[in-house]
Amino acid sequence: MGRDIAATAATAGVSSGRKAIDPRVMAVIEQVPRHEFVPDDQRPFAYENRPLPIGHGQTISQPYIVALMTDLMMVKPEDVVLEVGTGSGYQAAVLAGMARTVYTIEIIEPLGLQACERLTQLGYGQVKCKVGDGYYGWDAHAPFDAIIVTAAASHVPPPLIRQLKPGGRMVIPVGAQFLTQYLLLVEKSGDGTVSTRQVLPVRFVPLVGGH
Ligand code: SAH
Repeated sequence: MGRDIAATAATAGVSSGRKAIDPRVMAVIEQVPRHEFVPDDQRPFAYENRPLPIGHGQTISQPYIVALMTDLMMVKPEDVVLEVGTGSGYQAAVLAGMARTVYTIEIIEPLGLQACERLTQLGYGQVKCKVGDGYYGWDAHAPFDAIIVTAAASHVPPPLIRQLKPGGRMVIPVGAQFLTQYLLLVEKSGDGTVSTRQVLPVRFVPLVGGH
């Protein structure tokens, strides 16, 4: 799988601006057992470089996209990070290999509960989960060094910008369902100024909820 990710990174590099994924990210991806995060009937495909269905109309992202998004977050070992859209828990497990603590929020209760149980069983104790609407972030544990949103929003949620530390980075797909969505890298500078860069056209399930 690592070779597939590297090959996609090399060809997509022109538009994503990243020719190669950080070796630390690749090492973690090689360690996380993706087959543990997909339904039994999808296990034969767990190490292919494509998204897979995980039930409730949701998907576990393509490994290349997980690698690219994690790379763009530039997570350091002492960081506290937030994920919106736990899904299977796979991306949270990858982040757990990079950061000190991972907070993750899922809006579909059965998915969130299952992912949480799975992460505990697999020994990812530094991942803290909750079921709720991630549009509003997780104020009690803010600010975060990095934030990742794994569902496409129509706009960058202001609560998430507020919960990002100065110097922090957020990776989020933005755009309407069935139309072109772009992966955005949002950076908050030391003085609080926010800048945004389009990285790559992508396709994600929509960010739903009450906003
Ligand atoms: N990161 C996941 C992939 C998630 S797919 C993984 O590694 O498997 C996107 C997920 O976002 C879905 O599970 C969907 O239910 C969830 N989601 C959508 N809107 C949300 C919201 N407002 N708050 C939290 N989760 C949301």
